[in-house]
Amino acid sequence: MDPSRIPDEFPAPSFRGAQKQAVADIRDAFAAGNRVVLVRAPTGSGKSLLARAIMGAAETAGEAAPSEATGAYYTTPQVSQIDDVEADDLLDDLAVIRGKSNYDCVLPGEHDTPVNRAPCARQQGFDCSIRHRCPYFSDRAIASGNRFAAMTLAYFMRTAGSEVFRKRDAVVIDEAHGLAEWAEMYATIECSPERVPVWDDVGVPDVAADAGSEEDALDRTARFVETLRDVAIRAKDDLVGRPELDREEVARRDRLQELISELGWFLEDYRDPQSQTSWVVDQPSGEGSAIDIKPLDPARYLRHTVWDRGNRFALLSATILSKEAFCRGVGLDPADVALVDVEHTFPLANRPLYDVTQGSMTYEHRDETVPKIARLIVRLMAEHSDEKGLIHAHSYDIADRLTGDTTARTATPNWRRGRRVPTPRCSSP
Ligand code: SF4
Repeated sequence: MDPSRIPDEFPAPSFRGAQKQAVADIRDAFAAGNRVVLVRAPTGSGKSLLARAIMGAAETAGEAAPSEATGAYYTTPQVSQIDDVEADDLLDDLAVIRGKSNYDCVLPGEHDTPVNRAPCARQQGFDCSIRHRCPYFSDRAIASGNRFAAMTLAYFMRTAGSEVFRKRDAVVIDEAHGLAEWAEMYATIECSPERVPVWDDVGVPDVAADAGSEEDALDRTARFVETLRDVAIRAKDDLVGRPELDREEVARRDRLQELISELGWFLEDYRDPQSQTSWVVDQPSGEGSAIDIKPLDPARYLRHTVWDRGNRFALLSATILSKEAFCRGVGLDPADVALVDVEHTFPLANRPLYDVTQGSMTYEHRDETVPKIARLIVRLMAEHSDEKGLIHAHSYDIADRLTGDTTARTATPNWRRGRRVPTPRCSSP
């Protein structure tokens, strides 16, 4: 990486706010030899432009030896952020790739079939005559060969170890504050009727109560996982051996393949005497019920899915409060991470913060919490009845639920859900 290129690679025609200072600080942080630079940039500061500037410093194929990593990845947990990148003219040299389910097959009669359920996924040995025109495989080939590739964090993690998306010189993770939660979510192996297609074919023990005299709950879980994995392999082999599958069977086969690999990863680590991972098992309802198996330190999971995928990293976020806590959560040593704070240009006096937390917003608690937030907003609006206001929701789903809340809608008929507005690019008209 050549950090000195970062200011010149800034894609907008001019800087606004604190952007000029930010690119200079980021350049200096990389130039000082830091492998990871954490950029704390407020909402509206143009993080995606900073991301593109950093990516432009990655080695190009012409500059590096054939064995060296070149080019850059842009990745983010937020699908809407990838949509914005794709729509942004200033970022048109980023090649976006999405998961197969986002593309439709283009074979005659299959135009409504997503690529992951298409004939090439359903039929054994299917040789697609128009694969070169297939939207998914074309986008994948373009992103793989392009200097800059953009994808969701889910896709990025899934492609760890792939020959198509190999290590690159620079990786930018936008909205990086949720990285630890993503690691935990991905590292947790959920054995439940919803996630295990062969659930009814195995007897699920009470792993704490049924442990043998020399065993604990983890050992008993490992024995159960061995059986489950064998059953899953047989079911998968049966499907793979058939000449053609329907869409449901394809979904079942793909989930079985994922499950077999997740269970295999756990068993391999559990049996490895050198392994440093401590596993925890959670089965609150006992025999016959779901079991969650998770590593005590999910940050390790990020090593091969993220940290091995690039030479240098920029982690961008508006909401990382503590560098130390963030680094611990994602398996980085704070001493090896530089922090660049991008100045907020909006006066502090004009942006007081009031903590009015109403509850958890994780998916399972949302039904309970959203109506409380809606009621709070109604009270606030009544208090400020002659003013306008803006509510920044974390997702379209939350925005839809808030605007759809009957009590709130009745009390405030002018309450509308707006569209996401891209950050303005230039300082003056
Ligand atoms: S490779 Fe061919 S069969 Fe498979 S999704 Fe693409 S167009 Fe359809």
